[in-house]
Amino acid sequence: MLAAPDLDLVYMREALRLAEAAASRGDVPVGAIVVQDGRVTGTGFNTREAAADPTGHAEIVALREACRRADRWRVDGATLYVTLEPCPMCAGALVNARVARLVYAAADPKAGAARSLFSLCDDPRLNHRMQVHAGVLAEPCAAVLQRFFRDARSRGRRDLSPGTGPAPDLSPGTGAGPDLSPGTGPAPAPDLSSGTGPVPAANLSSGTGPAPAPDLSPGTGPVGAANLSSGTGATEVPT
Ligand SMILES: [Zn+2]
Repeated sequence: MLAAPDLDLVYMREALRLAEAAASRGDVPVGAIVVQDGRVTGTGFNTREAAADPTGHAEIVALREACRRADRWRVDGATLYVTLEPCPMCAGALVNARVARLVYAAADPKAGAARSLFSLCDDPRLNHRMQVHAGVLAEPCAAVLQRFFRDARSRGRRDLSPGTGPAPDLSPGTGAGPDLSPGTGPAPAPDLSSGTGPVPAANLSSGTGPAPAPDLSPGTGPVGAANLSSGTGATEVPT
């Protein structure tokens, strides 16, 4: 029987295979697997584009299958493997599903909610926490993402004729602009020793810098921040 770290590699390789399936369908290549009681009970890859679903992230798809199979909303004792650090939505879903252990490959410095931006999976303020193990097969899982965005950019350049509409949002479900800018150098070697060290970032940006913030200014219209100041009128107190 394989020891846990070897099993982690086996399952992450399978998650990577699922990620590649997503890429072949035009979705950002992220794959996930749920393992419970030594059996794979859920698999998923990113289907955001194919299903036109903002929640169609690999982790959610895999969790839904596992829960359907178990006919309940929680997957006690389960380990979830995913090729990219979960976003806040997926980290929240993992907590809600009572996942016991998260193993992920590449870090996502733009949207990661297990370590990079937030630590939602083991925040002591939440009512459930899980073990988090980062960096398993980080380099190949990051590489498949980088290749996807590189290909998408070259396709985008070919297709950039007037009237084709805005460029597609290719970030892995994060909404943040991926950072593939040249000059950031190769990803560092993954630290597979403890899972606590730095994880190579997937570094997905298109090199165009951060997406511009939406203009939320009230402009000329009356819509704007709610006026909460107390000096503009007394609250009527019923007598
Ligand atoms: Zn997600």
